[in-house]
Amino acid sequence: MSRLIQRRDDWLRREGQRSIDYSSAIFLAAGSGHFTPGRSLPISLIVLHVTGSHDQMPHEAPPVGLSAMNMFRSEHGNTSAHYIIDRDGTIIQMVRERDTAHHATNYNRNSIGIEHVSRYDLLLTEIQFRKSVELVSSLCQKYSIPVSRNINNGICAHGDLSKKKPHCGTGSWNWERYLLEIQQRLATI
Ligand SMILES: [Zn+2]
Repeated sequence: MSRLIQRRDDWLRREGQRSIDYSSAIFLAAGSGHFTPGRSLPISLIVLHVTGSHDQMPHEAPPVGLSAMNMFRSEHGNTSAHYIIDRDGTIIQMVRERDTAHHATNYNRNSIGIEHVSRYDLLLTEIQFRKSVELVSSLCQKYSIPVSRNINNGICAHGDLSKKKPHCGTGSWNWERYLLEIQQRLATI
């Protein structure tokens, strides 16, 4: 096991809790300045992000999402996402779904934000892709969100919303396959 994964798992064991919103996730709260308690709009959108970088020691794999976890708990800044899906499929929840995370400027109020630990030039790992499909399927079912790529009521990439981050979530996986697998999964639930 790599040193970084060990550090992450030690941290999660020490301070993580079982997620109330999604049983496959470990909850580790974001810093209080990093999200807004409550919601001013009903949830109708899932915004998918890629961290754009990851912690990687030379020749050590897989990389892990410690940077994102640290960033969302930092005394500085105010960003967050509801969930982080790491390279090894570990899902860390940092903001409750009933609260508003700060991940997509004008689209935070009605959305759930999910970070995938990766670079823009890397594909998601197979297990990361699968865990993402499972989480998003469950959210679509819970909040009656349509399984289509749509920026108002559906699932979208951050890059679909932001001119400043055009690569965020747009090219790190095959969208056609992603939506199809969610549809197939929902058909069996
Ligand atoms: Zn993003």
